[in-house]
Amino acid sequence: MAAQVAREVYGPLAETMDRDRIPVSREQRKQLGDLGLLGIAHDGDYGGSGAPLAHALAVIEEFGKVCRPAAFQIFEANTGPAQVIRHLATADQRERWLPSIISGDTTMAVAISEPDAGSAATDMRTSAKRVDGGYVLNGTKRWISNGGEADQYLVYCRLSDAPGAKGIGAVVVGREVDGISFGAAERLIGFRAIPSADIIFEDVFVPDDDLVVPAGDFGKLFGVFSIERLGNTTMSLAIGQEALDRTIQYVQEREQFGKQLIEFQSIQVMLADMVLQVEAARLLRDRAAATADEGLPDSLAVSLAKCTANEMAKKVTDLAMQLHGGNGLTEEYGIERLHRDAHGWAVAGGTPTMQRIRIVSEVLGRKFDQRR
Ligand SMILES: Cc1cc2nc3c(=O)[nH]c(=O)nc-3n(C[C@H](O)[C@H](O)[C@H](O)COP(=O)(O)OP(=O)(O)OC[C@H]3O[C@@H](n4cnc5c(N)ncnc54)[C@H](O)[C@@H]3O)c2cc1C
Repeated sequence: MAAQVAREVYGPLAETMDRDRIPVSREQRKQLGDLGLLGIAHDGDYGGSGAPLAHALAVIEEFGKVCRPAAFQIFEANTGPAQVIRHLATADQRERWLPSIISGDTTMAVAISEPDAGSAATDMRTSAKRVDGGYVLNGTKRWISNGGEADQYLVYCRLSDAPGAKGIGAVVVGREVDGISFGAAERLIGFRAIPSADIIFEDVFVPDDDLVVPAGDFGKLFGVFSIERLGNTTMSLAIGQEALDRTIQYVQEREQFGKQLIEFQSIQVMLADMVLQVEAARLLRDRAAATADEGLPDSLAVSLAKCTANEMAKKVTDLAMQLHGGNGLTEEYGIERLHRDAHGWAVAGGTPTMQRIRIVSEVLGRKFDQRR
């Protein structure tokens, strides 16, 4: 059903959405909610399906192949900040926020990065100072997907004076509160129909009830973030798989020198390289997803999968463009769109380089301090 809706409803819209940077509308998102696609990996108590994470990933993949902006809605609801609410919030908070995310009435975006804190996320300066009845939030967040569009934001911030990760926790802030504003819409190479903007907090009051993760539980936050990284991995996998599938078709249709492109041995080798990379990414993604059966996915398995899938998607879409010749560069064929989006998904959620650093640290059982 998901594959059919993706291809028939969103497939025809994808090129225009990307070209004119048109995000998914509220009505479209509600439709995804009505189909049950926004709560696959959420509990039945809040309107979800209670299915394994792998089921949500399968749906993200089908949408990710044809329309990443629509896939993003499913990604965000099933693998994004809503999972932090599911795993770390109180029962009252889950009751307040999850049902409307799952139904598609609202969305929640995640705000971690800052102008001077990207890979070094724990250098963040946005802070929530204790006041009577709550906190006062100040700071600037950058590169926030769905920034300005989402109804709520899970904001990672400093909740105590403790240095580094120790002082970091998270609060939820609504889009309409006093003191919040948004920067100009970013014009990125990919992700064109997924809004991205700075968020500026100036003396924003956050009531006690909206504190989700207190200072000191940053490790827990990043534990749950592994789920988002699996969603990200799946987006890259979808991009690579689609580029491969379309190329398999193209090289058997297109003829040069009187025969199909696929009959040239060098083209067979290029295609084999694409298959190898997509299959390797898929196996690592599936292995990482399987570790999530009993709670959170294994972070090493996720970093291996994300790094492999991100790199794969960039390379496989590049090969797909080559094998499509001039057609690969046209907006009409959509191969260049796959390539542009591949670059976006690689940077989002922690770059492949940072995943590599994490992989070595975990395999060797050693911490490598990036600051000394
Ligand atoms: C499309 C897109 C969507 C995003 N969505 C969100 C979002 O919704 N919410 C959010 O909070 N953030 C979001 N981000 C931000 C994203 O998480 C950061 O861009 C990312 O973590 C990298 O940070 P940076 O851009 O500041 O790059 P930098 O950290 O400045 O890195 C620049 C380069 O240096 C490398 N580098 C950095 N440190 C090291 C090191 N110690 N060793 C070796 N190499 C290093 C990096 O790998 C990279 O190649 C998004 C980004 C993009 C592009």
